[in-house]
Amino acid sequence: MRDVDVLIIGGGPAGSSCAWALKTKHGRESLILDKTEFPRLKLCAGWITPLVVEQLELDPATYPHRFVTFDTIHAEYFGRKGVRRVSMKTTQHSIRRTEFDNWLLQRSGAEVIHHQVREIRRDGDHFIVDDQFRANHLVGAGGTHCPVFRTFFKDINPRSKEYQIGALEEEFEYDYEDPNCHLWFGENGLVGYSWYVPKGDGWVNVGIGGWSEHITTAPITLRDQWDFFTAKLKSMGLVRDHDFKPKGHTYYVRERAKVGQNGRAYIVGDAAGLATRDLAEGIGPAVESGLQAAASIVTGKPYRLKHMTKYSMFNRGLKTELLERFFDRRARLFSDRIWSRGRPAGVPTKSDREPEKVPAS
Ligand SMILES: Cc1cc2nc3c(=O)[nH]c(=O)nc-3n(C[C@H](O)[C@H](O)[C@H](O)COP(=O)(O)OP(=O)(O)OC[C@H]3O[C@@H](n4cnc5c(N)ncnc54)[C@H](O)[C@@H]3O)c2cc1C
Repeated sequence: MRDVDVLIIGGGPAGSSCAWALKTKHGRESLILDKTEFPRLKLCAGWITPLVVEQLELDPATYPHRFVTFDTIHAEYFGRKGVRRVSMKTTQHSIRRTEFDNWLLQRSGAEVIHHQVREIRRDGDHFIVDDQFRANHLVGAGGTHCPVFRTFFKDINPRSKEYQIGALEEEFEYDYEDPNCHLWFGENGLVGYSWYVPKGDGWVNVGIGGWSEHITTAPITLRDQWDFFTAKLKSMGLVRDHDFKPKGHTYYVRERAKVGQNGRAYIVGDAAGLATRDLAEGIGPAVESGLQAAASIVTGKPYRLKHMTKYSMFNRGLKTELLERFFDRRARLFSDRIWSRGRPAGVPTKSDREPEKVPAS
């Protein structure tokens, strides 16, 4: 049996941020278990905000992999009154997750063991994992299907299907001509949005995502939406010759009441279902929660999800607080409005395929 102080399950941004903060800010060691060997493929558009860069103390000038900065985002909103085009002045970034996650994990300085966690139990004040590891503190950073969530949080912090996001995406090598980031909200009745995100140095990521419950009940399937979307990419000349093979994944956005700590067990990132309500951004909340769990382990102060960022498009502070007070009553209403401003008149003809299930993770 291996004894450790802090055992972190999952080496994605949530787990590696927690380990990095423990070591560099507090001098505490941790051990990370991950079922996948890094660098690993992670389905994700790889869009990160300035807050992520700031919280990770990441210097783009010395970051050794692809890192693109966009100063404008081009978006189209499809609603009852037709399409509205906006170019938003902003600073946003893109990275490739396979590079970024591996870099974060190495930088954390934590020991990493390739191990798939199957069984966790309490033994007095300790946690026993697969009868091989004994820990004082346990951090669940295993994403949507995290075993720590399953064992200690499923009952006290149940997730509801209505906050689930389903997405299809593909990242591939492509000699793109347009270096801008494009978003399309609510096109073809999708209660969600689609994206084109250049990654730099000949890589691009394209995808579509939306509320799972709308996807399963919509008159056209997510796969149909994908076909419309890739046809659009072709007609716009963004991606011309590519044999698309998208993959699907599901995860959860923030709900109102969330519990992230159960004794000395914590859940962070997707394990806690923390993606933002408006854009379903998950990397930022993963990093933020990882850092806060580390602080709580060190100080003994409670780890609370309450004050963590809930929206991508608003800064923290009074404005967000007021919005939350108003919208928490019907949190979904806000996101629905942003993601789809009503079903447009010209929704394409219904496919002869049956409405599909949410894509498997
Ligand atoms: C299509 C798509 C596009 C997205 N685009 C964006 C975006 O552009 N920007 C953004 O901010 N967010 C985006 N997200 C969300 C973002 O990818 C996640 O929120 C983020 O990866 C969460 O990080 P995490 O560390 O919590 O989990 P993960 O990155 O999923 O890491 C979890 C780790 O745990 C490991 N693990 C799981 N189970 C076990 C086990 N039993 N034992 C050991 N290890 C285990 C896994 O191997 C994995 O490495 C997107 C998601 C999808 C699906």
